[in-house]
Amino acid sequence: MKFFIYTFGCKTNTYESEAMSRLLLETGKYEAALTYKGADAVIVNSCMVTEESEKKARKLIRRIRRENPSSCILLCGCMPQVKEKECLDTGADIICGNTKRADIPSLIDSFFESKEKGAPEKILAVAPHGKKEQFEMLAPSGYKSLTRANLKIEDGCDCYCSYCVIPFARGHVRSMPIEEVFRVAKDLVGSGHREIVLTGINIGMYGRDIGVSIYDAVKAAASAGAERIRLGSVEIDLINDETIMKLSQIKELCPHFHTSLQSGSDTVLKAMHRRYDAKEYLRKINLLRENFENASITTDVIVGFPGETEEDFLDTVSFVKKTGFFRIHVFPYSRRPGTVAADFPNQVPQEEKKRRVHVLEEVAAGLKKDFLSSQIGKTANVLFERIESGTARGHAENYVEVRAKTKENVKNQILKVKIKGVSDDGEYVIGDIVT
Ligand code: SF4
Repeated sequence: MKFFIYTFGCKTNTYESEAMSRLLLETGKYEAALTYKGADAVIVNSCMVTEESEKKARKLIRRIRRENPSSCILLCGCMPQVKEKECLDTGADIICGNTKRADIPSLIDSFFESKEKGAPEKILAVAPHGKKEQFEMLAPSGYKSLTRANLKIEDGCDCYCSYCVIPFARGHVRSMPIEEVFRVAKDLVGSGHREIVLTGINIGMYGRDIGVSIYDAVKAAASAGAERIRLGSVEIDLINDETIMKLSQIKELCPHFHTSLQSGSDTVLKAMHRRYDAKEYLRKINLLRENFENASITTDVIVGFPGETEEDFLDTVSFVKKTGFFRIHVFPYSRRPGTVAADFPNQVPQEEKKRRVHVLEEVAAGLKKDFLSSQIGKTANVLFERIESGTARGHAENYVEVRAKTKENVKNQILKVKIKGVSDDGEYVIGDIVT
């Protein structure tokens, strides 16, 4: 029997898809298919952070049903966890919530058994998150790329920002015990990975339930031998000054921080139930820059939040210019049923949201070019991930993409590159390998 997994959403979902793949392979009954067309079971690991991501999952299920009608389609991830009933009309055969991931092989078996008897039964396997729920130990399967591996150390979020559905989909904060972080990181290093990305739903909250902190997790990965450690998205208010100082002492930690701003207007930040104002955000960014040499800061911004005026939006535009982000992911506000903001008055019209996205994306493209230009003349340590037509591509410690000509197979090597220019499209830098 063959399976194929299609993943939407964040790095945590990617990690969980790898883990589900391993669960299926370990049964000995399943092997991976190259596409969903050749699979007996197709798993759609969904995301519901925006309405758009939900629509994409529904559309994909319809396509799979059309092109591979006899396959068993299993819909899992955040969508079923929050809207199990609505998922029944997607066309999927099995609806599986986030708390039932470990049962996926047996759920697929049950479906095929009922199908063999001539009466295939739709299966609904969703249970709510519990207050005392423990961190789910899921090991990833062999990674396709050796260079970089995600390591999920945390699940859940207790913040309840007014626009966000994630705490409902993911439950309370649960953390991987430190000794497990060490053990899994050691495994990943042993299998050749040069860089580990610590991921989770809200990793700034890592360890609150078990009396440790994100600093301890980074330290554990470093002691396991990881040469480079990267943090997934981290909320700025959850990393205090002392932690920033302590983290800067860990030389393996890469100077790249993705921390969601969401808005540069204090009025909007307050309505979003974010726990900082623009001034505090900027202070923390400056502290990161003072403590991490050549640090890059990337962020997410939501535009068109209910009640966001033109003046609020312009505050965001001038704030992002002042902060000098390397990259900004701009999202139009998406109304998520069940969240506080879904019922806010003054929803911004779709067309206006689109215009604001466009304006901010133009600003973001300029900022990216500025940051890349600031790298010219510097020497970066680049982990090369692939080689195409004599050009090696990889990422510097601060996550700038670097390309360099080479005649050698430098894949999975960390080499020094002298940066000499920015690509014409402003997407990456070009340099010469110097060691
Ligand atoms: S911190 Fe806020 S935006 Fe991030 S997952 Fe938690 S509730 Fe959602």
